[in-house]
Amino acid sequence: MKVLKFGGSSVASPENIIKIKNILSSYDDRIIVVVSAFGGITDQLLQAGDLAARQKTEYKEVLREIESRHLDTVKELIPITSQSKALSKVKSELNVLETLLEGAYFIGEITPKLSDKIVSFGELLSSYIISEYLISEELDVVYKDSRDLIKTFKLAGKNVVDFAVTDSNCRDFFATNTASISVCPGFIATSKNDEITTLGRGGSDYTAAIYAAALEADILEIWTDVSGMYTANPKLVKQAKAITHISYEEAMELSHFGAKVLYPPTIQPVLSKGISIIIKNTFKPDEAGTLITKSKNDSGKTVRGISHIGNMALLSLEGPGMVGIPGISKRFFEVLSQADISVVLITQASSEHSICVGISADDVEQSVEIVNDAFAYEIERGKIKQVIPEKGLAIVALVGDNMKSHQGLSGKMFSTLGKNNVNIRVIAQGASERNISCVINEKDVKKALNALHEEFFEENVKQLNLFVMGVGNVGAKFLNQIKAQEKYLKKNLKLNVRVIGMSNSRTMLFDEKGIQLDKWEEVLSKGEKADRQLFIQKVNDLNYRNSIFVDNTASAEIAETYPSFLGNSISVVTCNKIACSSDYENYSNLKSLAREYNAPFLFETNVGAGLPIIDTLKNLIASGDKILKIQAVLSGSLNFVFNNFNDTTTFQEIVKRAQKEGYTEPDPKIDLSGIDVMRKILILARESGYVLEIDDIKNDSFLPEESLATKNNEEFFESLAKYEADFQKIYGNAKAKNCKLKYVAQFENGQASVGLQEIPKGHDFYNLEGSDNIVLFYTERYPSLPLIIKGAGAGSEVTASGIFADIIRIGNF
Ligand code: ADP
Ligand code: ASP
Ligand code: MG
Repeated sequence: MKVLKFGGSSVASPENIIKIKNILSSYDDRIIVVVSAFGGITDQLLQAGDLAARQKTEYKEVLREIESRHLDTVKELIPITSQSKALSKVKSELNVLETLLEGAYFIGEITPKLSDKIVSFGELLSSYIISEYLISEELDVVYKDSRDLIKTFKLAGKNVVDFAVTDSNCRDFFATNTASISVCPGFIATSKNDEITTLGRGGSDYTAAIYAAALEADILEIWTDVSGMYTANPKLVKQAKAITHISYEEAMELSHFGAKVLYPPTIQPVLSKGISIIIKNTFKPDEAGTLITKSKNDSGKTVRGISHIGNMALLSLEGPGMVGIPGISKRFFEVLSQADISVVLITQASSEHSICVGISADDVEQSVEIVNDAFAYEIERGKIKQVIPEKGLAIVALVGDNMKSHQGLSGKMFSTLGKNNVNIRVIAQGASERNISCVINEKDVKKALNALHEEFFEENVKQLNLFVMGVGNVGAKFLNQIKAQEKYLKKNLKLNVRVIGMSNSRTMLFDEKGIQLDKWEEVLSKGEKADRQLFIQKVNDLNYRNSIFVDNTASAEIAETYPSFLGNSISVVTCNKIACSSDYENYSNLKSLAREYNAPFLFETNVGAGLPIIDTLKNLIASGDKILKIQAVLSGSLNFVFNNFNDTTTFQEIVKRAQKEGYTEPDPKIDLSGIDVMRKILILARESGYVLEIDDIKNDSFLPEESLATKNNEEFFESLAKYEADFQKIYGNAKAKNCKLKYVAQFENGQASVGLQEIPKGHDFYNLEGSDNIVLFYTERYPSLPLIIKGAGAGSEVTASGIFADIIRIGNF
């Protein structure tokens, strides 16, 4: 004998029910098939009852939906010739349901008994329809109402199964029933007085376990919409994997802590008989599923699964009157238990100054009232404070039989959460040490589960979630580079880099599975209208672990958003120089936010594009060196301009070419006026540990006042043409002295300056080609022969690679 249970989604539609028939047809054994209500119906029944009790006529609409769902299913599944019997039975049941709801509506209230009665129609109807359908398919089927077999009694306000009576009922019935398949409703039972009772939400699993135990079945099969019990809820953690084999205890612990795939009480009856459970997927019956048996975990894995319970609240009882006084906790728990409030987690500080319990948020109001009442005497005398509730929380638990013999798991758990800015409110470890749990904010659940899953299950593959603002020259190259390196990064660096969001000035796009990078242009063009505020909001709301905001723009407005990312533990990588060259206070605030929230803020490409200038500088300082002097040619654009400008060209023409080839900022005046170089030397000085503002930098501009005062690119280019003679003069003077023109930035003794210089032959700067940059660091360790970094310092390809390198730095962080 085998017992199979098909859950709500497995029976949610006629197509699904046909799948069940196909599964059943492959069995030779005698089987009991326990079914849930059609997916969503139990919720609708409860909703209808609630509306009726609040005297809202909308309950009728819900009832209509329930009706048509069942009648339609009959019409689709059962051949017309035998439909009428099924239709009239279903209709008559629905009439009874309608009468019950009407009753609740007129009285304006609903008792628990009536609620159970109303909700029982879900399973009654589904099991009847399914059995009629299977009969019409000529399977050897008998229908048996579980209310005749499963008996409950009341214990501490709850319906509990009377196993003695139930087991004997089951044995008697199945001893005489010889059909190959018996179809029974899950979830419902009756009391001694034959009143309808239910076994709790998700209780059809339990019904099946009760049958399996009573009849000592060979196996209990739970057929659902996922391929087993997973390492974490697969709906929230995409990387979660089905666990092949797990012990009863581990499965029980996971289900108690929220793995809804198995209703927690299910295990107890089969455990005592040593009957195995297998969890299978109705939609992928060939997948192995999860086998739950008594054998202990020998997988070598410490953590077997991660689960969570949402909608939690904490209740803290504290006060000086609690210290050393026996019985306070006993009274606390007693009042909660008398009110049927179940306590999921308990912690008590060793000072005995406070006790804190985790309960369902739905029970908060009632709990506060009864606890304050119970301790009114102590509260009045100031010995205990009014109980403090806190809502919006969730419990996250690591589960595994072998966790007890391992040190450092909780450390790893908490540091992983900490790194991702998940605030831990309370920590608890089960006495069995099969479980470490903590209470966090509900909004952080998805991030916490994914971060923990990555840490404990994903063989060190770290997922980086990118949000890319700006996909122009640099951004586009950057995306292409990531695409090209995807496999390499995964294989060699164990990094899985996904772009979750991107935006240009027109449209924006989010894809939680990761945007397909081979056709990002096409999908982005079909994205929603770009909205910076919305983009930022979305990045924060998605609340992914290892999130990185990548700014490929030159926008001041975007630079202002960094604090909102860093303050949420979202790293920022930027080629935009505005933030780091703004007020020192802003720069240093960003650096300290990055430290405080463990979110790297990297801007290597602010100086010398992809050249490792800032990183080298940081390493020098971190290893104890001190910067004495920096001399540098930092403008790829100005280099390009002065390397190409001569007496056969015009200055305007060369600047235009530089702009066209991507060597200048979109506004070339920012380069030509020296502002861009000022920003760069400012950033290097600050990274060297000096407090400096942009106004402290001396700048002798070679541009005429009039060019500096222009308002747009067009005016600027016109003025360059107008002053061509001046530019030729500058060139001529240098040439006459056999010098080349270089725009040099210098920092020494706390002073920074920028300006065009005539560089003689033999100087380190003389042979600088194209758009190359060069930086000379004179330090205590390199006092006379400087540390030199030289290479292409502008261009979208190298800038993109610099951003990429920052991303990798974060990956290795
Ligand atoms: P059924 O209707 O078949 O009883 P449930 O909705 O009660 O199905 O349970 C299956 C669901 O449990 C899955 O769809 C999944 O969302 C959820 N779930 C939560 N945690 C886990 C887990 N660790 N493994 C598998 N499923 C889980
Ligand atoms: N139909 C009930 C519920 O939704 C029982 C079950 O599906 O297991 O809770
Ligand atoms: Mg279920």
